[in-house]
Amino acid sequence: MNLPDEAASVALAGALVPCLRPGMVVYLDGDLGAGKTTLVRAMLRALGHAGPVKSPTYTLVEVYVVSSIYWYHFDFYRFNVPEEFVDAGLGEYFRSDSVCLVEWPDKAAGFVPAADLVVAFDFAGATGEARRVRLAAASTEGVRCLSDFQSAQAELAANCSASPAVHPSSSS
Ligand code: ADP
Ligand code: MG
Repeated sequence: MNLPDEAASVALAGALVPCLRPGMVVYLDGDLGAGKTTLVRAMLRALGHAGPVKSPTYTLVEVYVVSSIYWYHFDFYRFNVPEEFVDAGLGEYFRSDSVCLVEWPDKAAGFVPAADLVVAFDFAGATGEARRVRLAAASTEGVRCLSDFQSAQAELAANCSASPAVHPSSSS
């Protein structure tokens, strides 16, 4: 999927967030500046969170409670060894009533719970705002999530292409 500018990333976040359910683990892959935190911020905004959404690079985890669900945003970039995940007691956050959004999951490999969904960002050009993103399901819950996402996208596309047909000038 192509994201020509940041607005496209915000739109993706708005479309994806209704497909997430408590208990899900989402890995966010991609280099520094690829747009992982931007996606999380836009997801929380889409849920109605009005306060700041800062990168958890130093704090490891930021917590948001929206719609009675705990949203945990992790960033393991600064881990020297994956065992730091255990030392920090982070396993407790992965529960059936929380959605865990994880940047740099590879830095906690072997300890961070497996993903249901992987969102992978790439830079689409040498400079500028263009990004490419791939969504991959990694569990049955991930498959359900992507299927919901694709149905919503298809419905949106159908409504858009149907609208000229109901334009008043075409019925006269
Ligand atoms: P990461 O968390 O992956 O390190 P951030 O989301 O913190 O990256 O930063 C991405 C930066 O790129 C932000 O400054 C954002 O404004 C900018 N940006 C430009 N184009 C896009 C895009 N299409 N999607 C997301 N962010 C973009
Ligand atoms: Mg980040």
